[in-house]
Amino acid sequence: MKALSKLKSEPGIWMVDAPVPEIGHNDVLIKIHRTAICGTDMHIYQWDEWSRNTVPVPMITGHEYSGEIVAIGEEVRGFDIGDRVSGEGHVTCGHCRNCRAGRRHLCRNSVGVGVNRPGAFAEYMTLPAYNLFKLPDEITDELAAIFDPFGNAVHTALAFDVVGEDVLITGAGPIGIMAAAVVRHIGARHVVITDINDYRLELAAKMGATRTVNVSREKLQDVMADLHMHEGFDVVLEMSGVPTAVDEMLDVINHGGKIAMLGIPPKEMAIDWTKVIFKGLTIKGIYGREMFETWYKMASLIQSGLDLSPIITHRFPIDEFEKGFEVMGSGRSGKVVLDWT
Ligand code: NAD
Ligand code: ZN
Repeated sequence: MKALSKLKSEPGIWMVDAPVPEIGHNDVLIKIHRTAICGTDMHIYQWDEWSRNTVPVPMITGHEYSGEIVAIGEEVRGFDIGDRVSGEGHVTCGHCRNCRAGRRHLCRNSVGVGVNRPGAFAEYMTLPAYNLFKLPDEITDELAAIFDPFGNAVHTALAFDVVGEDVLITGAGPIGIMAAAVVRHIGARHVVITDINDYRLELAAKMGATRTVNVSREKLQDVMADLHMHEGFDVVLEMSGVPTAVDEMLDVINHGGKIAMLGIPPKEMAIDWTKVIFKGLTIKGIYGREMFETWYKMASLIQSGLDLSPIITHRFPIDEFEKGFEVMGSGRSGKVVLDWT
């Protein structure tokens, strides 16, 4: 089968001919239809320090996917050949305390698909059936291929009550933009999103942000005055991983505000803790998606009319994967989808 593999310890990714993986008793074999390129795939492509320390080579990468079940292990229940699926990119241990309590997203032993075990950039991938999410008919293969990052957005957006609240989203990457769409759909009042990239801010405005702020030109305090927001934001979703964005957010959040932190800072990050203390803030770290509550919420949000389609800005047949990585690295894209069919 065709697969994209991190073959060598240097920047790049290579198309290889790999054997179709064998399935165990609890696994299914998925024929991949679509994959999307994640920021993590870009890190692995560029072979930054994190990737060099984390990813063994060779490794078939990729964890944003949709496809169809073509073979089933003998112990698998609840799935059939022909089912259309997407699924979790974290394979959890099942025996730690959190797993046993049903909090699988907090598993301390989770293994990353396309990072620590062979991933979805391939014609076929095998995974434990537990990881899969069966797709309702109205969710296309293309949309399902971005359910992993959509799930990051939904998990973060639903961390706190945003109905009727003023929400600040720092970082208009694909995840920040999808989070803006979600909080608007479910009833936030002002949805203000920041970035330094106008292309992405325009996309965010199309998808539900009520005000975009390019922080390289505009001050959040001025925007708040414009909007007659005299007290500050009720909820902040941090989706940039950029320290200055975190500093700004601590200035403009109201007393008693809630912060959901998804963005991953490149290294240790100092913050002004006195603001956290004197403002009585709540900070929650967000990792991955809840298994599988977030997945049910994602499907329902789409079924209740949330339109995510503008976030997919580019599509390429798999043989043109290099173009996909190029445009994803340019900053002038939303999600980029690769077609394996
Ligand atoms: P991304 O890198 O595409 O988006 C980050 C955005 O922040 C970019 O558009 C960038 O221009 C913007 N930015 C830069 N400086 C800024 C500033 N000063 N103020 C506001 N925005 C600024 O990433 P993404 O794929 O959308 O993911 C968002 C973040 O979430 C990343 O940090 C990513 O590593 C992280 N992430 C975390 C998890 C998790 O489970 N916790 C999962 C996926 C991604
Ligand atoms: Zn576990």
